[in-house]
Amino acid sequence: MSFNRPDIIRPPSEWKSYFLPLTSGCSNNTCSFCGYYGSKLQIRDVADIKSEIDALALFIRSGVRLPGIPTVVYAIAQDWDGRRVFLQDGDALVHPFPKLREVLQNLNEKLPGVERIGTYATPQDILRRGVDELKELRQLKLGIFYTGLETGDDELLQKIGKGVGAEQVIEAGRKVKEAGIIFSVTIILGLGGIETSPQHALATARALTEIDPDYVGALTLTLVPGTPLYEQWQRNEFHPLSPFQFLEELRLIIENSSFSHCFFSSMHASNYLSVRGKLPQDRERMLKQVDKVLEAKDPALLRPEFLRGL
Ligand code: SF4
Repeated sequence: MSFNRPDIIRPPSEWKSYFLPLTSGCSNNTCSFCGYYGSKLQIRDVADIKSEIDALALFIRSGVRLPGIPTVVYAIAQDWDGRRVFLQDGDALVHPFPKLREVLQNLNEKLPGVERIGTYATPQDILRRGVDELKELRQLKLGIFYTGLETGDDELLQKIGKGVGAEQVIEAGRKVKEAGIIFSVTIILGLGGIETSPQHALATARALTEIDPDYVGALTLTLVPGTPLYEQWQRNEFHPLSPFQFLEELRLIIENSSFSHCFFSSMHASNYLSVRGKLPQDRERMLKQVDKVLEAKDPALLRPEFLRGL
């Protein structure tokens, strides 16, 4: 079966990267809120990936375009600064280890100017790997993992079909840090709806404290048509937060988490308010920024719905 190149879904900080698909879909396709729900995992052939790397390297070196290479390769490559690569798709780390290593070796050899390679990684993918394997990937410039904690609340993790509990995400984080890989963790404001709001926020703050990641990205729940959570909302079984209630969760998480050195951000397009800073040092400033908006309760201070995106 030919490989279906996935759409580009990426962390905000990877906007300057070249997007290299290793897989399509997600191996853990059971999360009830996620657009990857029910997606079919496809593992791309190594030979196919290498031919894309070769074509990319040739284009960067001499501007030559080869026939048979998807136009999207050159569309991305022409504005690419050559420094970062992001491996697609939902969890490229699921790629069998020897093949993943072969791809990274090829990437290092053909594009030596690349400084850092990043990927989404599920906690399951990370836990399946030994620290030695992760260190080997790190040597090959796989320098950052983006992993969804989503919530620290085990009951909610089970309810949304994440397939792991908070303790497993914490354990995955330990391995990533031991391997010297940057760990960026995503959380989702409003994931439990109104009923479990403070519980979700406080448990998330606790889990983040345990993980002590390098980066935290807060997203605001967006109900995606076709997902089970969207259907639950349609049946009035899920009750989403109001925009200001999302901010109350954000505040609780910033206030109650403790980090040694973390960049915390709600810059993602799904959020009603963009807050960012280093924790712990910027905590007071960030809380004041949220408080100001919570006190004014003025919708004009929020990102308008039509500008919010996934
Ligand atoms: S593991 Fe991540 S990408 Fe996969 S379905 Fe769950 S949230 Fe989506």
